[in-house]
Amino acid sequence: MVLVDDGRRVAAVRLEEVRKVYGTGAGEVVALRGLSVEFGSGSFTAVMGPSGSGKSTFLHCAAGLVRPGSGRVLVGGTDLAGLDELRLTKLRRERIGFVFQAFNLLPALTVLQNVVLPLQLAGKRPNRAQVRAVVERVGLGDRIDHLPGQLSGGQQQRVAIARALVTRPAVVFADEPTGALDTRTAAAVLALLRESVDEAGQTLVMVTHDPVAASYADRVVFLADGGLVGEMRRPTAEAVAARMTRLGARDEEAAR
Ligand code: ADP
Repeated sequence: MVLVDDGRRVAAVRLEEVRKVYGTGAGEVVALRGLSVEFGSGSFTAVMGPSGSGKSTFLHCAAGLVRPGSGRVLVGGTDLAGLDELRLTKLRRERIGFVFQAFNLLPALTVLQNVVLPLQLAGKRPNRAQVRAVVERVGLGDRIDHLPGQLSGGQQQRVAIARALVTRPAVVFADEPTGALDTRTAAAVLALLRESVDEAGQTLVMVTHDPVAASYADRVVFLADGGLVGEMRRPTAEAVAARMTRLGARDEEAAR
């Protein structure tokens, strides 16, 4: 947990009035229009919204991959705007984990080598026992020397999750982590993500369009047209689906 001087808990990630515009003049697109949102340490949040609502831009800004036009992004209390590219890369490697829909494993490396990679990139000497513990936590202790091509999709995503957790990051961003998986495999991966929050105190922010996936989170935040339009605590898949339908309807009305 990160504490500020007066003893208040600092959010793992905080966005303040983040604005991002792509293009200029007539081709200008406002992707985020002054978005403010906070993710508490040890919380699991799903981010949802119609296509084009700004989810990817939000994720890229929050993870320090894209610099916002204005506003602030703080990760573990550090203002990303104050970091040059080198320091930003270092912060991303050490404090942020990523899980993608397409797994993004290196095919020529074994499970162990893939998981160890972020530590090596950060110039840290991997502690073999610690790495093995992470691989065992995701249920792949007996596959440690396998190549990704020898694993199922669900197993590959477990490797990607182990890789994201190995640096003990302040936050893990997951972008449609179950988008390429069948329902049963997706449920197992979501349970694993949930466990990383409940048992290891990981902070997790997951972009998804799937109400069932969102129901594993503590909170869902809804984006529409580059802004935050609502949130839901203790979401159920049914309630999330209903809210998403209303958001979609709102978009259709706006387009008429
Ligand atoms: P989502 O992930 O919810 O689909 P995005 O963040 O990808 O939304 O996009 C938000 C808006 O910004 C959309 O209108 C999209 O067309 C636009 N946009 C995203 N990336 C770019 C880019 N690199 N150049 C121009 N416009 C972009």
